Amino acid sequence: MAAAFLVALYEYSPLFYISVVFLCFLVTSGMVLGWFGWDVPVILRNSEETESNVKVSQKQMRQVKNPFSLEIKNLSVASTASGITLSLDCLEDCLLTCYWGCNVQKLHEALQKHAYCFRIKTPQAFEDALYNEYHYREQYFIKKMDKEEKHCQLPAEAQVADFGPVPRSRYPLVALLTLADEDNREIYDIVSLVSVIHVPDESYRLSCRMLYQYLLLAQGQFHDLKQLFMSANSNAVPLSSPPSELEAEDRVLLEKVGLAEDESETPEENSKDCIVCQNRAVNWVLLPCRHTCLCNECVRHFQQCPMCRQFVRESFPLSSQEE
Ligand SMILES: [Zn+2]
Ligand SMILES: [Zn+2]
Repeated sequence: MAAAFLVALYEYSPLFYISVVFLCFLVTSGMVLGWFGWDVPVILRNSEETESNVKVSQKQMRQVKNPFSLEIKNLSVASTASGITLSLDCLEDCLLTCYWGCNVQKLHEALQKHAYCFRIKTPQAFEDALYNEYHYREQYFIKKMDKEEKHCQLPAEAQVADFGPVPRSRYPLVALLTLADEDNREIYDIVSLVSVIHVPDESYRLSCRMLYQYLLLAQGQFHDLKQLFMSANSNAVPLSSPPSELEAEDRVLLEKVGLAEDESETPEENSKDCIVCQNRAVNWVLLPCRHTCLCNECVRHFQQCPMCRQFVRESFPLSSQEE
């Protein structure tokens, strides 16, 4: 049958016949070579082999120095009536300005203004951008490299018992950190830190928490600080130290290195290790889930996060890859 077809083909056009036979020969030899592992075009190999070559793209990152660090102390006891304790650790002399009852819409407009033209580098600039839409303001001077705790409280004379029913038009507390020294504002990329804090009161008892933290850059961008979820405890890489923040060059995502609250893994001696090989230090952050659980070697084998099975769209290292 095939022979009759070939003869017919040869009689029809010898040239076409030769090219068909040659093509068959090429495909067959390609398949044979591919079988023995030679480097032949991918389309000739079976599909399972090619999958491991797919690489997750690496996010372009730039390291910037963040002079500010602000955390809430004793979350459980904070309330509008009893006040809130903030723990500060700054690299330079700073001003902490607390705005109680700050208007939500005006705050976001102020951030937009910062992005366009009106840079928020001082408390005064912030208040102008807000049109003074807050109930009460208090200010503290924070000395550099001094781990300080400040107790902020809404005084009785402000006559604010709560911030109205939910959904609210005012944030209970917005804490602004700015550089006190004018010269420093020229040195640092990050010129202020805006922390939006929920503080419980009579009408809304949701426990105290950090809602957002925005880092404002001298060039006008602002970035939302996000927490990373470590697979282990924090002595892995010098993580929880405030000065090093990583910044995505292209988009708004800034990652703050910190501890996941929901991880129950035992913080034993192996805790800083990669959850896959249990051997090398954790170094890679997977996006979008922000799990930080893989070492430099293992990261290349995963297209899904080994902790939550989410597909990894991008990843970036905490420290550059020389170890
Ligand atoms: Zn590993
Ligand atoms: Zn994950």
